[in-house]
Amino acid sequence: MIGKKYVLVAVLLISSFLSFCQDIEKQKQIRLTQTITEKEIIEYATILTSKEFDGRLSGSPGYMKSAQWIASKFEKWGVKPMGDNGSYLQYFDNAYTKVFDSGNVSYQFIDENEKNIEKNYRFPEEYFPGQNSGSGNIEGELVYVGFGISAPELGYDDYAGIDVRGKILVFESGLPVKGNIPDIERWVPYDYHQYKFKNAIAHGAIGWLYISKLANPNTPYNKDFVYAHIGDEVANDMFNASGKNYKEIREEIVKNLIPNPFVLRGKARINANTQRFEDSKSCNVIGLIEGIDPILKNEVIIIGAHLDAVGNLGKLLPGALDNASGVVDIITAARILAQSPVKPKRSILFIMFGGEECGLLGSTFYVNNPKFPKEKVVCMINLDMVGNGTGLALWGGESFPEISRHFTDANTNYIKRTMKTSEARPVKTRPRTDGAVFTMNGFKSFAIGTTDGVKTVYYHHPLDNVDALTPDIMVDVARMIYFGLLGVANDETLQIK
Ligand SMILES: [Zn+2]
Repeated sequence: MIGKKYVLVAVLLISSFLSFCQDIEKQKQIRLTQTITEKEIIEYATILTSKEFDGRLSGSPGYMKSAQWIASKFEKWGVKPMGDNGSYLQYFDNAYTKVFDSGNVSYQFIDENEKNIEKNYRFPEEYFPGQNSGSGNIEGELVYVGFGISAPELGYDDYAGIDVRGKILVFESGLPVKGNIPDIERWVPYDYHQYKFKNAIAHGAIGWLYISKLANPNTPYNKDFVYAHIGDEVANDMFNASGKNYKEIREEIVKNLIPNPFVLRGKARINANTQRFEDSKSCNVIGLIEGIDPILKNEVIIIGAHLDAVGNLGKLLPGALDNASGVVDIITAARILAQSPVKPKRSILFIMFGGEECGLLGSTFYVNNPKFPKEKVVCMINLDMVGNGTGLALWGGESFPEISRHFTDANTNYIKRTMKTSEARPVKTRPRTDGAVFTMNGFKSFAIGTTDGVKTVYYHHPLDNVDALTPDIMVDVARMIYFGLLGVANDETLQIK
């Protein structure tokens, strides 16, 4: 009988010793996460949004400098290079256009008192220069062509019965139908900026004013076509001068799905000063923390964020929230994962994508040229604009509870913020994130986000600077990534399916 008692005492002692060790380990981890501070977050975000990196337009010298900077950090922290030829950089083709200054957009018309009026618009309040505009000046009469779509098989043509040769077009971005209609797939090809611009050229226009007032390099370049982006204020001027109401006409097209093209009164002038770099290359920045388990290390969790932004349009567009925030969240987590007292059993691959703003070029290139076979990838976690607000989110996480629970646990145990989750939805519309590229290619993918109490978002705008960030939530996102990734990496019950 005595022997059994000794065994019991020994077992109790050992188990309390083990939990004591675990506690010490946990304390070490918590102390490590506390080395991520608002100061570090702001320091990195300030560097990424600096003049030196010139708005990180993918393919441009400023972007390549920012990629080198990330690579230098990975190297310093002991994150292993996974790019081309032993480097961190995975190159791909990425033409870009340098915009030297913000150019001009003006409108000349005769008002109701028969007076000649000329309006010169202001950037960024009223217009944005075309990011891939040809260089030069154009002047011409204006035609409104709704959404700029010719879809005969859908019984819809914004150009029906109107001659636009030699004219400057005014048209909308997006679709005249909502994303949740059953046959949305048939409309999707017409949602691309590339399609709309090519269609305008095919109809003989000399340039256009695109009603979508933001910087956007996801447009095709043609040296002979000059364009700019305008806001509703400019469209209102043009419609009012023609005795029409812009908002009503747009709403009618959407409601009835009947195109309504017409000539607007007056003339517009657009001036653009640009240079095209057709043969330029961009890159993804890829680093690895290798797992320590001899078998599980062949399985990998991918976490990524796009590093590129929208450049400089005569004013710097710093790209702080979109997406220095996501990049900084991930690299700070990478720094502490590389020093962690608890090592990951599975491997963790960090990808800072290039070319996202130019049409998801970097993520598309990666899925076609992967570093690990798809069947060895646990999941891909994307971060885009994750640095504004008070709450955390796992968008799409509900569909993969065996993975996302490690992030929810991290929040419950260490971070203690409100957390929202949602189910992953199939990508039926035009893909808009690097995560969507992975989903469409058969990877499990969800997004880490921030939500609640969000400050004003200056999307693709010169005011998307460090002041647009909420650094304390970024600290917590980075800490959650650390605990969450370790949880997934060390979960031996997890099976890749
Ligand atoms: Zn983005």
